[in-house]
Amino acid sequence: MTASNPHTTAKGECVSPDQDLLASCVHCGFCLEVCPTYKLTGDENNSPRGRLRLWREEAEGRLAYDSWTDFYTSECVGCLACESACPANVPYGEIFEKVKHEHVATNRSKPGFLLRMAAALAARPTLFNATMLPARLLRTLGLLKHRFLFQGRPAALQSTANYAQRLMSLHQPNGPRVAFLTGCLMESLFREINFATIRVLIENNIQVVIPPDQGCCGAFQEHTGIDGVDELQQRSRQAFGTLNVDAIVSNSSGCGLALGKALKGVAPVRDVLSFLGEIGPVSRPLRHDDARVYVDLPCHLIHGQKVAGIPKSVLDATGYQWELAPQARDCCGSGGVYNIQKPENSREILARKSEFLNQAAGDPVILATSNHVCMMQWNSARSGGLVNRPFEVRHVIQLLDPGEKFEVQRRS
Ligand code: SF4
Ligand code: SF4
Repeated sequence: MTASNPHTTAKGECVSPDQDLLASCVHCGFCLEVCPTYKLTGDENNSPRGRLRLWREEAEGRLAYDSWTDFYTSECVGCLACESACPANVPYGEIFEKVKHEHVATNRSKPGFLLRMAAALAARPTLFNATMLPARLLRTLGLLKHRFLFQGRPAALQSTANYAQRLMSLHQPNGPRVAFLTGCLMESLFREINFATIRVLIENNIQVVIPPDQGCCGAFQEHTGIDGVDELQQRSRQAFGTLNVDAIVSNSSGCGLALGKALKGVAPVRDVLSFLGEIGPVSRPLRHDDARVYVDLPCHLIHGQKVAGIPKSVLDATGYQWELAPQARDCCGSGGVYNIQKPENSREILARKSEFLNQAAGDPVILATSNHVCMMQWNSARSGGLVNRPFEVRHVIQLLDPGEKFEVQRRS
């Protein structure tokens, strides 16, 4: 069989991953038992080791173009659990990203029209926010129904930047200074979580700066393989790179991971909960009720950003009785846009993980995490019939929130 070279774009640009990176896998198989798609199918080709072998054989010209390689590439959730398990430090995420972009650039993979449109909009935050205004309004009124849409009341017109400015002048915090990534989907549809983050930061005497020229972190393009990551990273470096701040913080672990890559060697990016854990956040009163919080850890926090977890001091400060969800370190199946591109796999992965909620103690039961895409996925467990009892989906920062009364009270 003669191998055609699938690793060049129509313009003749080589986009393949470095062969040294591909060769760094020593085939030990330690990654197999953490891989959700291997656990689902038992198929070696659907494992990190199997995918790496397919990509390497193609890159070395030993395997001709094969649509099965495209299939197994598309099956990967991108959870990066294999990176954490790998004793040889194979940079699976970096390789996977390059392969994904290569597959889109060479038409081996064709993201649908809606994904391309969403990517184009995400790169234009002002337009994205304006386009999403009706959705924000309907969501505030509780009239926007979709299996992924958890409950919330985002401000329709006031931006997070304006809100932060108002609260900063009211409370005048004088502690550490952070720049905050507002995000594209977070700002356009889930703004109430950004507002809660601003309240929590300012209540903790943290000064908040919202760089006006920030855009999308590039995570959406990374997940889909659609072009434009370089331009978005450049924009992030211009917006965040020269600020005089103690940290750049994000309240979404996927966005924080992507921004961290853009600012690598320029400025450190921190998960907002990790940052709060270091300063010891203001506690909410202890709640003497039956409510129980089950905490899930986003893959892009623990495997991507390599953060150990959500600090105990932060979870204790919520005032709730809490515990880690069973399989908290396993993927929920959201994977950026995986739950749209591979809905059946995604649902099956979530079914295994969310099963415990059917018997979980507590009233109400709250599933808390720190990534809006995981929140959407968990919501689909309820709305999609995997969990047959009511439960709330919340961001951990919302459990620390002093609430809207903070807008009219001076910080003590
Ligand atoms: S990123 Fe996740 S789904 Fe993909 S190969 Fe690694 S462990 Fe498996
Ligand atoms: S754990 Fe690392 S070295 Fe071992 S098979 Fe998986 S990717 Fe290769």
